[in-house]
Amino acid sequence: MTEENRALGTPLGKHPTRVLFLGSGELGKEVTIELMRLGAWVCAADSYAGAPAQQVAHEYRVLDMANADQLRALFDEIQPDIIVPEVEAIATSELAAAAARGAQVVPSAEIAAICMDRERLRVLAHEELGLPTTPYRFAGSLEELREGAQIVGYPCVVKPIMSSSGHGQSVVRSEEDIDCGWRNAQRGGRAGAGKVIVEGFVKFDYEITLLTVRHCGGTSFLEPIGHYQQDGDYRESWQPQPMTAAVRKQAEEIARRITDALGGRGLFGVELFVQGDRVIFSEVSPRPHDTGMVTMISQDLSEFALHVRAILGLPVPNIAFHGPSASRAVVVEGDSNRMEFANLENVLSEPDTQMRIFGKSEIDGRRRMAVLLARGKTVEEAREKTARAYAKLQINVFDRE
Ligand code: AMP
Repeated sequence: MTEENRALGTPLGKHPTRVLFLGSGELGKEVTIELMRLGAWVCAADSYAGAPAQQVAHEYRVLDMANADQLRALFDEIQPDIIVPEVEAIATSELAAAAARGAQVVPSAEIAAICMDRERLRVLAHEELGLPTTPYRFAGSLEELREGAQIVGYPCVVKPIMSSSGHGQSVVRSEEDIDCGWRNAQRGGRAGAGKVIVEGFVKFDYEITLLTVRHCGGTSFLEPIGHYQQDGDYRESWQPQPMTAAVRKQAEEIARRITDALGGRGLFGVELFVQGDRVIFSEVSPRPHDTGMVTMISQDLSEFALHVRAILGLPVPNIAFHGPSASRAVVVEGDSNRMEFANLENVLSEPDTQMRIFGKSEIDGRRRMAVLLARGKTVEEAREKTARAYAKLQINVFDRE
């Protein structure tokens, strides 16, 4: 496939486009489906068998993706044309080595490494690009954390450098809580104990994900997505988030500058806080974002389809938006290998309402298992629809068999 003449083969014929997924969750499952629609051959890897994307891929593999030897062996065996890291806990040195051997890493090995490291990302966003962020300091010890918190002020938020989705994150309200924040971060980091970032706590009016797609024809922005988080995990998202033209312009400007600086092709989830008429950069994911699941009902091409268009080098001439929409995560708690979603005839009884069941077969604690989607005349109506659908949803969790 060259820049001038883009062609795609067939998955089981000679010379298909071979795509290797690293991480096979619900977002990867949707990307896999979109890749298959364009005739790619897909292998989905994860640390366990039966993960959502593995259920729809041509083949799957099980390995520890943070283990460099195992990852190298997988690359040697699969010989992928394209490697799509879907999770952050990956031996990034091996990604770089695969890229040097000619594989296309999405969006690139370097970008994956920067975005998983809160320190590198902050230095790029604030110190190099001058984007507005919360005040922050990095700390490698309890003592440094205490000093950093003094500088950024209380309340503040402590997060492991290597973490995502609220893992190991705590809000520290006063000096007495510092020890607790440190311990939490040491337990919750992806790479085990290590450095932390301490940031000023922002009393934002709302937070958004501005999905930004870098494709062969330039950069396109999706309608901004508002969302509500609980325990660092998204529970509800809606699109478009109402905002003034001036705030939207600032948000797009920040998204353009950070994604231009990162480079590569693909969809990025730029996370921003909005306080009055001020937009503050928080972080960016170099892949579809969970809050963006709303685009499965709000747009002609979902965030997953757009990601695939971009990474295959295909153009995105327009993004057709169908109107105000909402998503609601279905999070189930328990210890079980047998679950059932019931009363669906009522859950899905309203027009323009959909559901996706991810197909995870076990829960041990709390796990996102499905998502409810709805469209309405307004964002409020769409949110009310998903709330009604959620209230009607019966989740039966049976004892382990
Ligand atoms: P993160 O893993 O950094 O995306 O954080 C998860 C969620 O925690 C965000 O979506 C916010 O809702 C909240 N959060 C993170 N950092 C801050 C902050 N500095 N001030 C206020 N809330 C925050």
